[in-house]
Amino acid sequence: MSFDLFTFSGWIRKWLFQDPSPEKSSFEEGSFIALFGKEYKIQHIQGISNRIVIQDDIFFIVKSKPSVCTKTLVFKFLKNTLMTKVQLKSHEYAAKIGVTISKIAVKKMRSRWGSCSSAGNLSYALHLVFAPEPMIDYVCAHEVAHLLHMNHGKDFWNCTQSLYPEYKYARKWFRENSKSLFACA
Ligand SMILES: [Zn+2]
Repeated sequence: MSFDLFTFSGWIRKWLFQDPSPEKSSFEEGSFIALFGKEYKIQHIQGISNRIVIQDDIFFIVKSKPSVCTKTLVFKFLKNTLMTKVQLKSHEYAAKIGVTISKIAVKKMRSRWGSCSSAGNLSYALHLVFAPEPMIDYVCAHEVAHLLHMNHGKDFWNCTQSLYPEYKYARKWFRENSKSLFACA
């Protein structure tokens, strides 16, 4: 695996430590956020338009005026960022096994990382955006494999493995990290 698990768990600890209240997604100046498992320091600046800018290790929250809702701005960015990623990966995997995806959605889900409907719609949990990219790839492979096998039988796992050979490692990773990841924001 190419990502640094130590760095990742360090970020989780920092996040949980810096704000122990249930309202964790305050995105305060100087606090940390992870994107695809990489850690960034949050900095607030004033600008002409409301947006997020990533530069080096800094996650800039640019607001035109203080009354703009930080949470809305950040979550919109996170959703778009994850959407771009899962769209690319899901379609790539779908092409490999010759299936078609009807629709892809990114939603706030607190109990699972993805889902696949019988109509061929795939949904992904917004909190995946904090996970390392290879783990997101696994979830995409898993959901795309459901387009062929709507169960968790042997054929399903063989299909998942054909798309994502290290699926066992990814499953273990999610078993160990899901709880902290869902608690992040
Ligand atoms: Zn499944």
